[in-house]
Amino acid sequence: MEFAVLAESFKRMEDTTKRLELTQLLVELFKKTSPELISKIVYLIQGKLRPDFEGIELGVAEKLAIKAISKSSGIPIIKIEDEYRKGGDLGHAASKILEQKSQTTFVIEDITVERVYETLYKIAKLEGTRSQDMKMKYISSLLNDASPLEARFILKILLGILRLGIAENTVMDALAISYTGTKENRESLERAYNVSSDLGKVAEVTAMMGLRGIETFQVTVFNPIRPMLADRVKSEKEAIIKIGNKFAAEYKLDGERVQIHSKKDKVILFSRSLENITSYYPDIVDNLSKAIKADEIILEAEAVAINEDSGDFLPFQELMHRRRKHKIEKAVSQYPITVNFFDVLFVDGKSCLDLEYSERRKLLETIVSENEFAKLVPMTIVQNENEIEDFLENSINSGCEGLMLKMLDAPYQAGARGSYWLKLKREYRNELGDSLDLVVIGAFFGRGRRTGRYGTLLLAAYDDETDTFPSLCKVGTGFTDEDLDQLYQLLSDKVTLKKNPRINSQMEADVWFEPELVIEIVASEITLSPIHKTAMNAIRKNTGLALRFPKFTGKIRMEKAPEDSSTSEEVIALYKGQKKVIQDTKQI
Ligand code: ATP
Repeated sequence: MEFAVLAESFKRMEDTTKRLELTQLLVELFKKTSPELISKIVYLIQGKLRPDFEGIELGVAEKLAIKAISKSSGIPIIKIEDEYRKGGDLGHAASKILEQKSQTTFVIEDITVERVYETLYKIAKLEGTRSQDMKMKYISSLLNDASPLEARFILKILLGILRLGIAENTVMDALAISYTGTKENRESLERAYNVSSDLGKVAEVTAMMGLRGIETFQVTVFNPIRPMLADRVKSEKEAIIKIGNKFAAEYKLDGERVQIHSKKDKVILFSRSLENITSYYPDIVDNLSKAIKADEIILEAEAVAINEDSGDFLPFQELMHRRRKHKIEKAVSQYPITVNFFDVLFVDGKSCLDLEYSERRKLLETIVSENEFAKLVPMTIVQNENEIEDFLENSINSGCEGLMLKMLDAPYQAGARGSYWLKLKREYRNELGDSLDLVVIGAFFGRGRRTGRYGTLLLAAYDDETDTFPSLCKVGTGFTDEDLDQLYQLLSDKVTLKKNPRINSQMEADVWFEPELVIEIVASEITLSPIHKTAMNAIRKNTGLALRFPKFTGKIRMEKAPEDSSTSEEVIALYKGQKKVIQDTKQI
């Protein structure tokens, strides 16, 4: 396929935000695409080359891209930077510059989607000392043959700024229409996506085998399953209303969720956001076979740091020491963990997702032989408020966050947050103490003791409707000196020259970041705000919501992707819940 066809489609997609129009444009594009190419097209639409869990990142810096544009156009770097500053993004700037150039030269060779994809793939795979030179060579060779419009989108993909605003569901709608004739079949595609986390693969199977192929789509080891998530409840009473009179209560351990895939000697670990985290936990890889009786398995567990002498659970922060590429062996012995299994999703050729919770738990108990390192998450069956309360106290006393309450006859709902699983944390029991996971989008330099570091951070929620990060608060409290140093380091490679277009903030920060790092915040209240953009117009016209007296809890949520942070909807629900509490109190 000519890359020009894709670039033209991208341009039309950029011009609309309406879901129906986007679906229509996708259907038109898919109809022109061969089944062999469809997976690549689907990844490119999402600005990716492969599914996230494979960890293939383009990682091209703006500076390098500017150099490559300069090399292929012969226009000095300074002029390109000027054009970039004037407006738009680097993709647009390159397109403008090449427009000027194309009046004097001519395009040598047509470029195909296949060639662009292969070249981008090579760029992503480059490592080592000469990789920067090679990257530049590849980029400028593409730009040499690209039309201005093609160059614009090649650069956007390279820089990770292609934002067509197309949600996964829209892609699935369009796939269902194109290959099964109706949008009604989207559910089957969604199921396949939830068990594979690979939209390209879903597209390929649908295109090649139609509905029958997608309906027989299987869970496969080493393809992560999108995790089942829980709803919050504030009290034992609310849990009983939502989930019934008899259910399982498990300790909610304060560690990192790990999805463990193993076949014969190979083990791969995925985080909650389905990143490959195998290298952080060599101890799980080494010890798994001692505890598990199965040849091929997918399990879910919480990895928790422990005090080696007492065996007590330690807070989540301790696991942060594992987040290093080098000297991981040292971290493993200095910061030991236990792995605590709570679910089984696949065993020896069979998916367990449709089994009821109680059956899965029974199976888990037969598969796991507990030892010093491998444990089952403590569980009991509860039938009334007192029993929940009692187990909650035990859980808190053992250093856990609270309880997970699970419906006994519910299947494992991959990729869904629903009321089959509920979480009851101690902090949820006081009305305003809910914690939120927010994305760091900007910062203000510190003064006094904080000179040379960031004194205050600007934080955002995630708006999944628009795929943007609207600001929610500034936070300057709760940080220890060590936290400030660590955050400064973690944020140093996320600094951008210009505000990322996905950030929605009226407030001007001293520094802008790629919206990537997620941290945990508590606050005293959620209030209406004329400045912050979260939930803009949802409660009152021209007004958003903001956190009052926000405070950093000390938790950097490395395992969360920015899209996993608290959503605008969650903030609205908390705001409304808080108002309800105030009203209820007034009535008393
Ligand atoms: P939180 O911010 O509260 O950790 P989350 O947004 O990461 O929540 P939720 O579905 O809301 O995800 O809460 C479930 C999380 O709790 C899981 O991701 C997992 O890491 C952790 N967890 C601890 N113990 C359990 C358990 N027994 N069963 C399931 N999840 C558990």
